[in-house]
Amino acid sequence: MARGFKHSLGIRHLVCGSCNGCEHEMNALTNSVYDITQDGWDIVASPRHADVITVTGPMTVAMREAAQRTVEAAATPSIVVAVGDCAAGDGAWAGAPLAGDGAGVELAAAVTVRGCPPTPAQIRAGLREAARRLDGKTTSGKSALER
Ligand code: SF4
Repeated sequence: MARGFKHSLGIRHLVCGSCNGCEHEMNALTNSVYDITQDGWDIVASPRHADVITVTGPMTVAMREAAQRTVEAAATPSIVVAVGDCAAGDGAWAGAPLAGDGAGVELAAAVTVRGCPPTPAQIRAGLREAARRLDGKTTSGKSALER
């Protein structure tokens, strides 16, 4: 059955070794300024309810398997959005022994929001891009939103 995303979007957030800077900006998405619920979007507790998986951090070795299992458990179709330079693979911990290559590479993120950290407005733009792709069911291919 065809499913539309124009009026709702479930977002599950994964912290994969972030310094929490990106989380502070993610948290602002639900405050009264950036309030994503006005778009019918919300943060959900389970990947099974998620249309979008947002990922921050460099994808530490300890989080790799859990992150992959979370993406596999997400609804179909769903899309991965890498949030921040670490998730893009070239942030502060790039090359560190226990840091991976970021969600952009390891989870094949279709949308990447650059910045250290990106602003809530930039993250929201990334979510709009994810929603646009889900509406068109084009969840593959890279899209990087620059600073
Ligand atoms: S991109 Fe910057 S703010 Fe975000 S987790 Fe990495 S170091 Fe922290």
